Amino acid sequence: MTVAPCILVSPAEAASVLPATERLHVVDADQPQVSVLDLGVTRGDGIFEVLGVIDGHPQAVEAHLRRLSISAAMLDLPALDLDAFRAAIRLAVDVHPPAPELAIKIVVTRGIEDVGLPTAWVLPFVSHDFTAERTKGVRVVLLDRGYPHDIAARAPWLLAGAKTLSYAINKAVLREANRRGADDVLFTSTDGYVLEGPSATLIARYGTRIWTPTVAQGILRGTTQGDVFDFFADAGYATSEVLLRVDQLADADGLWLTSSGRMIVPIRSLDGVDVPIDRDLTDRALTYLLDRRR
Ligand code: PLP
Repeated sequence: MTVAPCILVSPAEAASVLPATERLHVVDADQPQVSVLDLGVTRGDGIFEVLGVIDGHPQAVEAHLRRLSISAAMLDLPALDLDAFRAAIRLAVDVHPPAPELAIKIVVTRGIEDVGLPTAWVLPFVSHDFTAERTKGVRVVLLDRGYPHDIAARAPWLLAGAKTLSYAINKAVLREANRRGADDVLFTSTDGYVLEGPSATLIARYGTRIWTPTVAQGILRGTTQGDVFDFFADAGYATSEVLLRVDQLADADGLWLTSSGRMIVPIRSLDGVDVPIDRDLTDRALTYLLDRRR
């Protein structure tokens, strides 16, 4: 067994002759595995997902595979053999040394130019420790994404709402946040709506109403947001996807970012202005997510 295992998934074209599990190859993640000619490397032309693994249980597998398939369709990649990815996720957990919180990254690229076969792999790794963010919260700045909120309908070729490998911008905005003395970012549209974080979904509480920005704006459907909505619905809150104007953020009773790794973290300031944190509600949501995941 390699210490840093990675599962290569052979292209689906082999599916007719090989069952899903026989198309998986455990390789060493510390060794080079991807060609310098791969379009994922040379153009960021591909898609990915990251899911959490709590106490050996991979989380929201079907929701992540659904989103991966949607991204594949948006990029005109071949349809994915989801059984191969299900088996690869299971194998990735089995071959990695156990840890309370792992993460699994699934990558699918367009493959080597002119060959027409995607490259795919599934990589397990130990998660960063998010205890500080979950308990203390994060400082967030609003940054303009440069598009109107209806960009997905107007210009689908911009791939808004696909989880592509081209995350250089999603990382650049974090450096801009750091320069402004903050930890994270909320993207806004040019016409004044709140979108999402570079790797998280926004949840806002107004009394007993819980809102998240609608995915119709070309943002990702958060798998964690779905679970958090279940928590709030069980707790008696009314949940909905909305168009949320930037000026409405100031009236929120609480704001959170949700994502597979961090799960749920409260926002403690927005553009330098304090945001109230409901410690008890945040802890209950986190406990719900952890319990559901064990
Ligand atoms: N929005 C963006 C742009 C993301 O990259 C992510 C996850 O990385 C999310 C939202 C949150 O999605 P999830 O809760 O499924 O991790």
